[in-house]
Amino acid sequence: MSAQVIEVMDDVVCVRRPSYLTCSYLWRRGAEVVLIDAGMKTDASDVLAGLAHWNLPVDAVRACFVSHWHNDHSAGAARIKERSGCAVYYAEAESPQLLRQTATGGALGWLSDAIPEAGPLVLAKGLLGEAPMAAVEADRYVQDGERVEGLDVLFTPGHTSGHLSFFEPERGLLFAGDALAVVDGELRFMSRPVTEDLDAARASMERCHALSPSWVLAGHREPLQVTQAHLDRFRARLDAAAPPAGDWPLLG
Ligand SMILES: [Zn+2]
Repeated sequence: MSAQVIEVMDDVVCVRRPSYLTCSYLWRRGAEVVLIDAGMKTDASDVLAGLAHWNLPVDAVRACFVSHWHNDHSAGAARIKERSGCAVYYAEAESPQLLRQTATGGALGWLSDAIPEAGPLVLAKGLLGEAPMAAVEADRYVQDGERVEGLDVLFTPGHTSGHLSFFEPERGLLFAGDALAVVDGELRFMSRPVTEDLDAARASMERCHALSPSWVLAGHREPLQVTQAHLDRFRARLDAAAPPAGDWPLLG
């Protein structure tokens, strides 16, 4: 199955992969495109499908932001950079993994590839840190508080140690990566087994909530147009899961 292209608004599309419904986002600015996450395939064919939505060539890509190192968010970045000459931005803390080539060979990479894309083993597949990917160098490491290519960089660790989210404040677009989840039209936690640092992840979700975004464009499932009721229910979830009495729900 190929990737699906979902129009969020005139200038923003979501490219969604059948495998764990991983989403990348393309933001068109005139003849140029900013890419937020570049999962999924090392040949970047799914990202190219997003560009085709606007009949734009690959060299329209001006910048590629990578929220975190996981294969389903980063695998196509090297290929896109090679073909477009775009700048690649991510956090320095993610560099050990993003600079590690696993696309060719490696038993864990093979195992990750061999696990079916659906069913209960999908989680195990996601947890295989050596999932196949192509190493990609950053043109520059970016940090919390910077504005780069029209996006505010937010340090939102927890899911990984150097996870970043990106916020377009004019319209309230939060490109959240895996800092939080959207499930069944609600803002939710990522599942516990795929969260490295629960306390950091909670703090990151608090930051995301405090932004009162109009849209949450997260790394999986679907773009969500956010209402006050969504934010209120997410607030209640955050409060219910707060330590010491609260607990992080197993599946988010
Ligand atoms: Zn992830």
